Parts: sequence; structure tokens; C-alpha cells
Amino acid sequence: MKLRRVSACLVVLAASGVALFALMETGLFALAPAQAQSNANGRVPTIEEYQPNSTLVTPEHKPERARYPFVDIHSHHWNPTAQHVDELVKEMDSINLRVLVNLSGGTGESLKKTLAVMRGRYPNRFVVFANLSYDDLNTPGYGKRAAERLEQDVRNGAQGLKIFKNYGMDLKYANGERVHVDDPEFDPVWEKCAELKIPVLIHIAEPSAFFDSWDYHNERWEEMREFPQRARPPSRYPPFETLVAERDSMFAKHPRTNFIAAHLAFHGNDLARLGKLFDSHPNVYVDIAAVLAELGRQPYSAHDFLVKYQDRVLMGKDIYDVNEYRWYFRALETRDEYFEYYRKRHAFWRIYGFQVPDEVLKKIYYENALKLVPGLEKQWRAGGN
Ligand SMILES: [Zn+2]
Repeated sequence: MKLRRVSACLVVLAASGVALFALMETGLFALAPAQAQSNANGRVPTIEEYQPNSTLVTPEHKPERARYPFVDIHSHHWNPTAQHVDELVKEMDSINLRVLVNLSGGTGESLKKTLAVMRGRYPNRFVVFANLSYDDLNTPGYGKRAAERLEQDVRNGAQGLKIFKNYGMDLKYANGERVHVDDPEFDPVWEKCAELKIPVLIHIAEPSAFFDSWDYHNERWEEMREFPQRARPPSRYPPFETLVAERDSMFAKHPRTNFIAAHLAFHGNDLARLGKLFDSHPNVYVDIAAVLAELGRQPYSAHDFLVKYQDRVLMGKDIYDVNEYRWYFRALETRDEYFEYYRKRHAFWRIYGFQVPDEVLKKIYYENALKLVPGLEKQWRAGGN
């Protein structure tokens, strides 16, 4: 009887949103009804509705331009038009973004088109990375052919290789077998990158929370509700740890190949672990694209980590929006406290600036990229368009 009443109560609660449930779980439920009365709607707000204004007063700095010119190593522009590229350059100028790396170059003819419209018209402002075609994955000798195509793409002007996140997770052979991250079929590709001295910017796995159960203790609950396809349930995906272990075995197998693990290698929530990865694989680098909230919630650790591993971290943004870079500038360049992040679904928390020393800032903004991407230094030094 009692149980039945509790479960009926749960149904009502579920209907009225997650906030109530969270309150109940933390034992604060007893306080809720009285407070609900004072709410304009006469009820406890849902998790989305509850947006308290901070009363904190501390110094604020909101840089609109980066302190130094920078390279964005992680951007996406599919089949850009000349008009898009012209506008892009103007926006880049407005925030001190000197060189943008378009990771979505494709391969073959479409790559050539993207190169022509970007590098062809602004030779010093853009870098384009090639991608692999998996169309002939099931025909024997795939890896060797893919390596040959990449070589041609580099002759055509590509300056790196980007591997998208379907690799290791959704990419499968015709027999249904998942392509493992360290699949030897791909060895010729990684070895070709070493030979051509081009970096591989690689997205493996996803935030570990996407692999955990989608419950009210999951810190990406909101994002998985908004985009249910981002969840990585064990029924359809290997565990996070499996993917990461395969990735590390690939890093170890190809020590001459430089890998830039996208998004802090998804260890932004465990920087000590990322440090160990760096220590055991000198050929591994990371970008900070779309994971700023991880650094911003641990400003002391982030600062010390970036100082210690200043040669291994690169500036990147991912989804292009000229108005969102300023959060990166503010976090990297200032000690501002407790400010809102630009993408709620990544972080329901506020972030803090971790102000790295200028010499570290320059490495993250451009020096590390200049070392890794062939030809970039020349473009950089030439300056202008
Ligand atoms: Zn990306």
C-alpha cells in the first residue's frame, strides 16, 4: 500500500520535471512545498527553468580578441562557398584568428574544391585536412589504397588527416564486425602520415558520461535528453575503457606518427590520467575544442596541467561561431571567477579563468600548431592573406 502510494507519487514527480526528483533524492524534499508556494507559477521550477542570477561581484574581463594571433586547429566547414570564406576571413580578423584549420576537407575531388576556395584564395589563412573514404573498406587491400589516396591528397595541398568519431564506434565491416581503433588494416595509413610528416587529428570515443546510464546522476543528462542519439549504451557500443585502450595501443604501435587527440582525449575530467597518457606517448597531443568547461571547472588543476604540458596542447573550437571564442580567451587569459559557459548542455556549472603565463599561451595559441602542421609555419610567417 505504502509502496503503491510512493510509486504514484513518483509518476507525478516525473511529469513535473527532474528538479523535484533531485530535491527528493538529496533529502531536501521536505523544504520544497513551502518554497514552491513562493514561485510565481506556484510550483517548483524544472531543471531548465531554474536559472538563478548570480549575486557575486568580482572583477570581470571580457576579451573580444585573443591577446595573440592564434591557430584554430579544430574547425569544420563542409564544401564552403567563396562567399562563406570571404565572410569567414573578416570574422577571423575581428578576433585575431590568424589561421583556421578546416578538418572537413574530404578526399579526392571534393578536397581539391575546398582547397581551391580556401587556400587558393587566402593562401596564408587556411589549412585543410583530408579525410578517409571508407567506401571500399570491404575490398581487400583497403589500408594500402587509403594510404595512397592520402598521399595524393597531401600532394594536392592537404596538411593533415582528420579521423571522425564514427571510427572505432559506428564504422563496421560488411560482416558486422566493428572496426577496432587499433585495427591493423589501418596501419599503412598511420605509417603514411609519419612518412609525410602530417599529424592525425583523431576523435576517439565520446565523453565517458555518454557511456554511463542515463539517470539523474549523469552529468550529461540534459545533453542526452536533447540528443538521445549521443548516448552510447552498452547494448550498441563498446565501453569507453575499451575504446581508450584500443586508442592507446594504436598510439604505441605508431610512435613516429603525431596524433592530436581531439577534445583533451576525453580525459578533461581527469587531467592526471591525461598527463600519464602524455608521459607514456611522446607522439600524442590534444586540442581543447568544445571541452573548455572541463578545464574551467578546475582552474587550479587546469593551470598547473597546462604549464606542465605546455608543449602538448593546442587551441581549437570545433563548431564554428565567431561569438563563442571569447569564452576561450577569457578562460585562458584571465582569472575571472564563476562565469557562465556558452553551452548549457555541456556544463550546468559555471567556469573560472585559469590564466596561463604568456609563454604558455603562445604555445597553445600557435607555437605548438606551427611545429606539428607541415607548411603552417611558412604561412604564419608570411602573415596577411
Ligand atoms: Zn570536430
